[in-house]
Formats: sequence, C-alpha cells, structure tokens
Amino acid sequence: MRTAVVVGAGLAGLAAAGALARTGWRVTLLERAERIRPEPTALVLWPNGVRALRALGLGGGLDAIATTLPAMGIRRPAGQWLVQPRPTPPAHAPVVVHGEDLHDALIAGLGDQVEIRTGFEVREVRADDGDRPAVGDGRSHLAADLVVGADGVDSVLRAALAPTSTAVSSGCTAWRAVIPWYRAPRLAADQPVTGETLGAGYRFVSASLGERGSASGRGGIYWVATAAGAPRPEPPATQLALLRRWFADWPAPIGELLAATEPEDVVQQEIRELRPLPRSYGFPVGPGGVVLIGDAAHAMPHHLGQGACLAFEDAVTLQSMVREAVPGQALREALEGYTRNRRPRTVTIVRHTRRMAAVLQARGRLALRARDAVLSAISPRLVGSAAAAIAQWHPPN
Ligand SMILES: Cc1cc2nc3c(=O)[nH]c(=O)nc-3n(C[C@H](O)[C@H](O)[C@H](O)COP(=O)(O)OP(=O)(O)OC[C@H]3O[C@@H](n4cnc5c(N)ncnc54)[C@H](O)[C@@H]3O)c2cc1C
Repeated sequence: MRTAVVVGAGLAGLAAAGALARTGWRVTLLERAERIRPEPTALVLWPNGVRALRALGLGGGLDAIATTLPAMGIRRPAGQWLVQPRPTPPAHAPVVVHGEDLHDALIAGLGDQVEIRTGFEVREVRADDGDRPAVGDGRSHLAADLVVGADGVDSVLRAALAPTSTAVSSGCTAWRAVIPWYRAPRLAADQPVTGETLGAGYRFVSASLGERGSASGRGGIYWVATAAGAPRPEPPATQLALLRRWFADWPAPIGELLAATEPEDVVQQEIRELRPLPRSYGFPVGPGGVVLIGDAAHAMPHHLGQGACLAFEDAVTLQSMVREAVPGQALREALEGYTRNRRPRTVTIVRHTRRMAAVLQARGRLALRARDAVLSAISPRLVGSAAAAIAQWHPPN
C-alpha cells in the first residue's frame, strides 16, 4: 500500500490527510501540539474554497455549518460606499463558518484510516535522492512514499527544500473574535451585521454566523479587524481598548460589536507572508517525494480571505494528481505536475492580495488626498478582478 506522512494538522493537513486516505493511501498525520486544536474564530470560504470542500466529499458537512454571506460591498469609515454591494447568485456567494465547526467536519473526513500522532515535532527532513523521503523529531524517523508539508508559515519542510523562501511580516496585525449569540448586541433592522469598512491603515469586517436562536453550528457574530503595524504587546483587555479607540468613529455596528466583545474572545495574529514564494511545491525524492501545501507553500495576508480556500484547492489537486500514481517515475512526475498546476494559481492570488495590501496599508506613506484617491479609485476595480480570479478555479477532473 502507498504510504504518506502529512506534517501538520491545521486545515491544510487535515484536508490532505483525509483526501489521501480516501483514495487508498495509508496516512500518518504528525502534529507537534499535544492536541489537535481548532481556532476559536471563523473563516470566510469563497466559491473556490466551497467547491474544493465539495470535491473532497465534505459538502454535506459544510451545508450544515455554513452561513451564506449577503452582498455586502465596502464602506468608507465616514459611511459612504467605496464598492456598492452587488447581488451574487447563491452558487457564487461566499459563506462563513466557525473554525471549530470546520475543524470537526475535517476530522470527520479523516475516517478511521489515518493514524494521528500528536506531540511529534518534525525537526529533521531527509530528502536524499535514492531513498524514500523521511522526517524525524530527533528521536525517531518516519519514511514514506509521499511526505506532505502542511506545517504552516514557518514550515520546517520548506526551510529544508526551498530555503530561499522565507516568512516575513506583511506590516499589519489582525484581531478576530466570535461574540456568542447570548452576548451579541441586538441591532436595529436597518443595521446589517455583515459588512466591510476600509480606511487608510484600518479595516473592519463582520458577519453573522447563523441566526440568533438557531440550533445548527456554533453561532454568533464574527469580526476581524486589521491595522497597519506590529502586534501589540499589551494584555488582551488593553488591546481591545485600543481597538475600541481606533474604530470609535466608524459606522454602526462596529462600536456595538467591539463593546460586546470580551477580552478572552479576541485572538491577535501577526500577518506574515512568504517572500519569494517557493519556485516549486513538489520535490521528487527517491521513488516518491515531498510536497508543500497550505501556508507552508504560499502563506499570504488574509485580505482576500484565501489562505484556507487555497489550502483546500491544494488538497483536491494533490488527491487528483497522485490518485493513480504508484511510487517510481509516475509519482515523481505527479509531484512535478502538482507544481505546474498550483504555482501559477497561487502566484495570481498572491498578486491580487498584494494590490489589496497596498490599498489597506496606504496609511503614512501617502498624503491624505493621495490615500483617498488610492482607496476610492482602485478598490472597486481591484475587488472585481480579485473576485473573478478567485472564482475561476474548478477542481481538476
Ligand atoms: C486574521 C486572519 C483571517 C483569515 N481569514 C481567512 C478567511 O476568511 N478565509 C480563508 O480561506 N483563509 C483565511 N485566513 C488564512 C487561513 O487561516 C490560513 O491560510 C490557514 O489556516 C492555513 O492553514 P495551514 O494548515 O496551512 O497552516 P496552519 O494553520 O498554520 O497549520 C499548521 C499546523 O502544523 C503544525 N506544525 C507546524 N510545524 C510543525 C512541525 N515542525 N512538526 C509538526 N507539526 C507542525 C502546527 O502546529 C499547525 O497545527 C485568515 C488568516 C488570518 C491570520
């Protein structure tokens, strides 16, 4: 039986481990943490991510936990529209899911064919042509026909195989929270929960996770705030106070949402990205090889909400490329095919993300009038072409 070791049990690793196990691979999933833990926040899944999850056979689970986002447009902090909301056909609408619900769906998708080893931190990578690739934690080694590096932005596998690609700061920090329904503010009917507001150096996005009182999924109101600059060293209560001050004059319901948030709801994350992207995502080794997926391959800022969506695309593509490939020339070629398929796609999305980052981070570098021009002239076009690029993806046959 063909064997695979997947390193990292984040969204990318869970999706890939399940995908490989369902196509007849014997999979070992390694995670350095003692427990496989989901993020207590939420994610937006764009049509490409939804399509990828359906192609992975996880569509049923997704339908039970996803809330379709209404057309929301983008506002300026003073309230006027930067990008008008445009109705989207339901099949192309993004959805929002709680991270813990998504995690449960991916765990269910592992079935009983995946051996999970937690507390295993990969520190060594053996990729000498001739032998099968192997990873080790300093005490033991595991060799396999295929090693999947799903170990996130600081990937040990990427450091070994594509060392010129390094993780750098994107120059901004994000804060996320889910306010459970029982604490969520009751908003006026003309005050939609779901919306995006973009100012120079700051951005706030919120979305309703299910409906108040609904029994399905972990409900509440999700928000993500982004600000140019480094992570704050202060305790969460002080960070929350800062967020309330930064967004104080922004349109409703931002103030109400921040007021209803407790410090323990807030997750702060420094935003980092890979520069440059690895030139290859697949590395033939011996009769098989190593492949990089998810943030290990193409970590990027969250401005287009694409990191997890691309990780699911990666998992579907990998599954399709290696479905019939036996160790030897066929598997080596499949890994090269994986790079040919995934690299142009991820380069395109990174390019769109960087344009969005330039708008978001216009603060400080430009005079006020120039910043306004950047925000109001570029954004509608930018958002439209990014959305088109995102939607273009379809699972390989
Ligand atoms: C603020 C914010 C908002 C976002 N919003 C969205 C969104 O709306 N939509 C979207 O699609 N994406 C979004 N993303 C991006 C998305 O969260 C990430 O791209 C995605 O979670 C990456 O998953 P991953 O599995 O590749 O990496 P990770 O989640 O980093 O998982 C890596 C795993 O590998 C383990 N690991 C690391 N090193 C080792 C080792 N040496 N040995 C063993 N195990 C190891 C880690 O413990 C971890 O479990 C957002 C990101 C941020 C920061």
